[in-house]
Parts: sequence; structure tokens; C-alpha cells
Amino acid sequence: MHGRGTDLHLDPAFGRDAKLFGFFAHEGSHVVDDLKLISNGYNKKGNITHLESEQRAYSLENRVLETEVMRTNPDWQSKKAIQKFLLTKPDLYPTLGNPILEPKAIPEMKKR
Ligand SMILES: [Zn+2]
Repeated sequence: MHGRGTDLHLDPAFGRDAKLFGFFAHEGSHVVDDLKLISNGYNKKGNITHLESEQRAYSLENRVLETEVMRTNPDWQSKKAIQKFLLTKPDLYPTLGNPILEPKAIPEMKKR
């Protein structure tokens, strides 16, 4: 999801289980972001940028690594580091500045 595909991006030294747990945490973080946007009707405040969503996802993935293998990825230590990391992969993350949904695609919900 979100341009990441099936590439786990991790150093093999992190180990297979840690990679998998990190992968699920990462993708789960995107699911949480998407749910915040669409649950209870569309909440425009939840329409964060892909950059923000990736920063949350990589930050969580890094915390999983820290817990599982007591190592972290230096590229994912802070929002700034994650942004720098993402900018080195424009092919994977071409639309970082865009919101998750085009604002036009968000239906106006009637207030009850
Ligand atoms: Zn992601």
C-alpha cells in the first residue's frame, strides 16, 4: 500500500520475524490512518498527507524493531530522518505532499 509494494526495505540483519512484524505494523498504521479518514463519515481532518502517513508508519515500524531485535534503523529515528529517507525513493513515494484522498473525492456529509 501507499507505493510500498511488497518490498520490505529492511536490512536482512534485522531477521525475518522482525521484518514481518515491522511490515504488519507499518501497513497497519496506514489502515488506522485510512480508517480515521473514513469512519463516521469522512473526516477531512483525517486527510493527512502521504508524508505524514509514512512518517507514522515508519516510526511505528522502527519501534517494533527496537522491541523485537533491540536495534533500530537510523533512517527512521525521527520525522525528519524519515522524510529524508523517503525523498531518496521518489519512484516508490512520488506523491508525498498529496493528501491520502483528493479533496474533491471526499463526499460532503450532511450534518444530522
Ligand atoms: Zn508506507
